[in-house]
Amino acid sequence: MLHVLDLDFHAGPRSLAGGLLDGPEGAVLVDPGPSSALDGLRRGLAEHGRFVGDLQAVLLTHIHLDHGGAAGVLARENPRLRIFVHERGAPHVADPSRLVASASRLYGDRMEALWGEVTPVEPTRIEALRGGERLRVAGRDIEVAYTPGHAWHHVSYLDRETGTACVGDVAGVRFAPSEEVIPPTPPPDIDVEQWHQSLDQVAAWSPSRLLLTHFGTFDDVEAHLERVRARLDEMASLCRQSLERPARDDGERIAWFRTRLGESLAARLGASAAAAYETAQPLEHYWQGLARYWRGRPGR
Ligand SMILES: [Zn+2]
Repeated sequence: MLHVLDLDFHAGPRSLAGGLLDGPEGAVLVDPGPSSALDGLRRGLAEHGRFVGDLQAVLLTHIHLDHGGAAGVLARENPRLRIFVHERGAPHVADPSRLVASASRLYGDRMEALWGEVTPVEPTRIEALRGGERLRVAGRDIEVAYTPGHAWHHVSYLDRETGTACVGDVAGVRFAPSEEVIPPTPPPDIDVEQWHQSLDQVAAWSPSRLLLTHFGTFDDVEAHLERVRARLDEMASLCRQSLERPARDDGERIAWFRTRLGESLAARLGASAAAAYETAQPLEHYWQGLARYWRGRPGR
């Protein structure tokens, strides 16, 4: 079975999901969330008769703190636990100082309250991935694909038995019952072309459902992936327009982008649902990530 755990993050219930794969030889967790949501994680595990000590492995889609922040605390608590992560993310799991510094630039003095403790994992406990692996963990077969675009070190996991692709942030953010999807584009790694290729990779698995960290499982896979693509292109284009039109400074560009994106969301969702998407990540972070992408690519 694959269970969706509601980590009951600050943003409220149904904002942050972990995936619990229950196998014949133990349990595996996909994206444990941040340390600040550990109570929610423990409750979720207990509902399925599991404890942190039962976990064989944590599979990280990527190392952003809302997905993997608790990895070090869990590894300390469970000495058998192995942490799987893309090879580009592995050094930051072993030494999170640069990751924390980078997140601090976005979140400032809200860091500790938002994410809680971030502690290193001993390198011998880390399994570095490149994509293309077939893992056997807890008696389950898991396929790995390299899926950058949202982050350089993003991987996705396919649980063949349930047909579920655990896609982290690469298939966007969606809150049921809405069909609306937003690809989160925070700095520093956004790459629109790679993101599209990663969506091709996910589609090539022909999964019967997607597990999104924000939030939950969706089985309208093809339509969902098409909406991610359309929205990614729309947002990238809006950001590009903000960079090409005359503006005093980035503050003015961000304000223009926020207004346009906010209007576009509200038109499709209604204002209150649009606000829920904005609490997942401030819209200015979307601009910052996309602006970095465009500015790093002269001639685009
Ligand atoms: Zn992320």
